[in-house]
Amino acid sequence: MTTLSLSSGTTEGRQKYIPFTRHSSQTTLQIFRLAAAYRSRVYPTREGGRILEFIYSSRKFKTKGGLTAGTATTHYYASPEFKIKQEKTKSFTCSPEEVISNGDSKQSTYCHLLLGLFFSEQVEFITSAFVYSIVQSFIAFEELWKELYIDIRDGTLSKRINLPKVRKAVLGIISPNPILASKIEACCRELEGLDWFGLIPKLWPNAKYVYSIMTGSMQPYVKKLLRYAAEVPLVSAEYGSTESWIGVNVDPCLPPEDVTFAVVPTFSYFEFIPLHRQKQDYNLVMDDFIEDKPVPLSQVKVGQEYEIVLTTITGLYRYRLGDVVEVAGFHNGTPKLNFICRRKLILTVNIDKNTEKDLQIVVERGSQLLSNSKAELIDFTSHADVLTQPGHYIIYWEIKGEVEERVLGECCREMDASFVDHGYVVSRRNNSIGPLELRIVEKGTFKKILEHFLGNGSALSQFKTPRCTSNKVLLSILNLCTIKRVYSTAYAD
Ligand code: AMP
Repeated sequence: MTTLSLSSGTTEGRQKYIPFTRHSSQTTLQIFRLAAAYRSRVYPTREGGRILEFIYSSRKFKTKGGLTAGTATTHYYASPEFKIKQEKTKSFTCSPEEVISNGDSKQSTYCHLLLGLFFSEQVEFITSAFVYSIVQSFIAFEELWKELYIDIRDGTLSKRINLPKVRKAVLGIISPNPILASKIEACCRELEGLDWFGLIPKLWPNAKYVYSIMTGSMQPYVKKLLRYAAEVPLVSAEYGSTESWIGVNVDPCLPPEDVTFAVVPTFSYFEFIPLHRQKQDYNLVMDDFIEDKPVPLSQVKVGQEYEIVLTTITGLYRYRLGDVVEVAGFHNGTPKLNFICRRKLILTVNIDKNTEKDLQIVVERGSQLLSNSKAELIDFTSHADVLTQPGHYIIYWEIKGEVEERVLGECCREMDASFVDHGYVVSRRNNSIGPLELRIVEKGTFKKILEHFLGNGSALSQFKTPRCTSNKVLLSILNLCTIKRVYSTAYAD
């Protein structure tokens, strides 16, 4: 053992050290090549083309025992396999190593965008590990484009980039291109008027698809990505974790909401704990499911939900991953999994239990009411407040645009009424759970949360906004940034 990986810890707020060996990079290479083969059947790309990749390494450090530790993506980007993948799939990332691994995600994003524009004619697809990074990068682009096109025109590099190694590497690649710059300027002026609808096909005319993890906690960003992508297809990327890769998307043409992952049985020894939802038994407050004995891969059943258990080649023995999946069907003999949610991530005050997925559905319904006000939801999270009596849910929203208090009240009411969990409905009716509270946080709050995680050693590549939190630091950021509060009027009569 030479290396440890830090799992991102952004879903449960707790990072873990996981063994990482050469085998880990090799399976990463294997799954990426496999996925590329399936994608190229549906969306062939030109050999030797470029990939606009929004990828980021975080800092590495030595443990007391002398092992190198860092996130799994950081190890992979630094491994020979990262280069081998580009050669084998004949697609090459636009950014050099200095841009990926400099540790300053803002500077990396600027350079990824600049080089992506510089090579725009050659870009065959756009990608990141989790779709959050693509959306954040294009949100940044809306502000940065005026600087970017000047750098393209003059072959210069903005003063924002102050890391000498990065400056040297980027300036070694770009050269003045006034024709491309004026094209970019014209496109951006037009796109501004369209609220950036269709940004991707306009600026990257040869991009065949956008490829990233869009399932699970990433689902809420897909709507925003759809605006940028317009007619360019979205391809949902593979299912895996720092602990082990799990499954590959063998149907790349399916939209993100229908995607399943065919388990690759050689990556780990997989077992599955059958989970049964307990809606009726109100005493089962501590956990949301009743568990059966684990079954091997060959005995899973279609339609059943399971928690994944891994025995890995790097040394984890019967390790519970904490993810809930549903078997959607089979690909040859291997199950195709539907990602449902992180198991422990539930909102609960008393007998109610709402998963990440339940919350997502509710927020989706509530935020639809924003569209009449031309506002949009940027990000959200939640907290079950049990300190006040009766306890109640708080949902935090960051929104773009101005919204009247009346509309926010309607959104809040809609969300409260949309939780269908029986325990919640009963508790709301008898007021053992108080009215849902919607707190609007100021612009940039979720960026602060991201920065907090990055400061603790997480990598932007692996960041996932926690959809439910009791983390004290996070709550204090959210509460300090709250600018408006509204309470639901559902269940009032
Ligand atoms: P990490 O701790 O950064 O290794 O993140 C691993 C976790 O990210 C998994 O256990 C899942 O909860 C989530 N994840 C990874 N891939 C996917 C995917 N394709 N769809 C949904 N969630 C995913």
